[in-house]
Amino acid sequence: MQGLFLAFTLLTGATVGWLGWRLLAQDRALARQRKVEQLEAAADRVTGALYRQMAEFEELLLAGEQGRLPVAAVVLRSQNQQIVVSPPDGLLFQPAIPPPPKIPDGLFASAEALEFQRMDFLAAASALRRLAASGDRFVRAAALVRLARNLRRAGQPEAALEVYAQLATLGTTTVDGLPAHLVALEGRCTLFHELRRMGELEREAGILHSRLMRGEWALGRSSYEFQVAQARQWLRRTPEAEGGGKEALSAAAELLWQAWRKGSPPKGRTLLGGDSPVLAAWSSEGGEWTAVLAPALALDAALLEAGSFEAALIDDEGRRLLGRINKLARLRVERSQASTKLPWTVLLSSPDDGTAGLANRHWFLGGGLAMLVALLAAAGFIVSRAVSKEIAVAQLQTDFVAAVSHEFRSPLASISQIAELLDADRWPTPDHRAKGHEILTRETARLRRLVEGLLDFARMEAGTAGYRLAPLDAAEMVRAVVDEFQASANGGQIELSIATGLPHIRGDREALSRALWNLLENAVKYSAPPARVWVETSASDGGLAIRVRDEGTGIPGGEQAQIFNKFYRGSEAKARGVKGTGLGLAMVRHIAEGHGGEVRVESDPGRGSTFTLVLPGGDPA
Ligand code: ADP
Repeated sequence: MQGLFLAFTLLTGATVGWLGWRLLAQDRALARQRKVEQLEAAADRVTGALYRQMAEFEELLLAGEQGRLPVAAVVLRSQNQQIVVSPPDGLLFQPAIPPPPKIPDGLFASAEALEFQRMDFLAAASALRRLAASGDRFVRAAALVRLARNLRRAGQPEAALEVYAQLATLGTTTVDGLPAHLVALEGRCTLFHELRRMGELEREAGILHSRLMRGEWALGRSSYEFQVAQARQWLRRTPEAEGGGKEALSAAAELLWQAWRKGSPPKGRTLLGGDSPVLAAWSSEGGEWTAVLAPALALDAALLEAGSFEAALIDDEGRRLLGRINKLARLRVERSQASTKLPWTVLLSSPDDGTAGLANRHWFLGGGLAMLVALLAAAGFIVSRAVSKEIAVAQLQTDFVAAVSHEFRSPLASISQIAELLDADRWPTPDHRAKGHEILTRETARLRRLVEGLLDFARMEAGTAGYRLAPLDAAEMVRAVVDEFQASANGGQIELSIATGLPHIRGDREALSRALWNLLENAVKYSAPPARVWVETSASDGGLAIRVRDEGTGIPGGEQAQIFNKFYRGSEAKARGVKGTGLGLAMVRHIAEGHGGEVRVESDPGRGSTFTLVLPGGDPA
């Protein structure tokens, strides 16, 4: 029965568990699916934004008007290997610098002869002053540079400084390939440095540096880098104001121009990576090459459309150009170049695959399911216990009815036999008659005891068995019961030992006699004939102990706690067909407890048992 319930509980538990597990798995799959959909939608948004940005950007190529250029964007136009940058200060250095204008050969020949061969700097200076008044600004600039140099060498620094100031006014007029203003500033700085005029040096070098950083002059990369390094050396520090994004734009312009010269397609767009990525597009028509460059901020903005996900642009070789890729991403969505026709792969990643937020919910659900299973198990257990108990009680009662009927049958059979003999008055000898008489008396007594026992038990059960406690001579009572028991031909040999100085007790003589009788009856019943039984009466803890010991079958450990329950019959008793109702020990316990005492059992299966009836000492009065 219990096995059936256990199987039922296990099956229900397993089913609930399995359904719960399926539910959780489905929940997780659904959450993941939802996240993937969000990621796909974000990828579409990002791609859309990238399209828009690229379209706007490429429009710049066609228009190229300054007014419409976004902040920091630069347009390059080349014709005949020359590049026009707009806005003109858009780059710090330029990919190609126009060659300096030719100065007529021999113009400075006489001044140079005076300067380098005769070392007559003043004479050279006066020759150069004439040239410095020339109407051609290029000649003027070249003359002023040389004049300042000669004045310096002639030991007239003040005059040289003044000439440099004059040179500075020529602005972007090139001299030796560099703007006059730059050359003048550089010359003045060199002089201040030589003269240790640190205040002025600092001011002029500051101006030089800030103009370089503003991209005011069209310089080649090496000149630019050299001048910047020199200015910083004079300043003895790197000023905070840097070229901003122009540095990256300038480097990108150089790369783009070199690539174009090496032969890139007539039209294209690209993203030049680095710390500050630059977006570039170019087209060419009839020998004219136009390119637009801008910091990739617009693309950054497009990537922001990804919302809470990370978005990145990846080039053909799998390098990240822009944006971020989550290293711990559990979900990724890609838009390939082939599908978007953009020059990059768009990659979106998410560290959360949608299941992170489910943990709590799953704990609750799991906990609930576990509780449900536990409840089911508990309910199953309780029901199975109750049902098993019911079944056991029903079984006990059936056994009891069978046992009682059996108990009654044999004395009744004997009595009816003798009644028949009496009826026919057929007694072979007077001895036989006497024997018949004896059997009749014995069986009637047995029947009477049986009926009385049942009635007593019924009273005990009903709670109406009040014990009449009175001072009792225990030794006398024990002796009387043992004598009567032996006389009743129950068989067995009883050895009685009664200690002296027994305490006085108060008790119900009849009830205690029945209890002792039951113990004696059991001791004989559960021993192989001829049974030997020992009865000892002694003082114990101020009370009285009546011990009944046998060398019978003994009681298995597992049954010892149950033998005092009503209707309970030991396995041995049932197996051997020993007569009994299962009420004897229940009554003994009831009587012992009714006297404020108890009954104990010690038993060694196969070697015998000892039952001890312990009664509290009482008032002798
Ligand atoms: P009954 O003897 O009618 O079966 P009892 O209540 O007197 O009922 O005893 C309950 C059970 O205890 C018995 O069935 C038997 O198994 C066991 N038992 C009682 N006394 C003894 C004993 N002296 N030796 C072995 N078993 C005993």
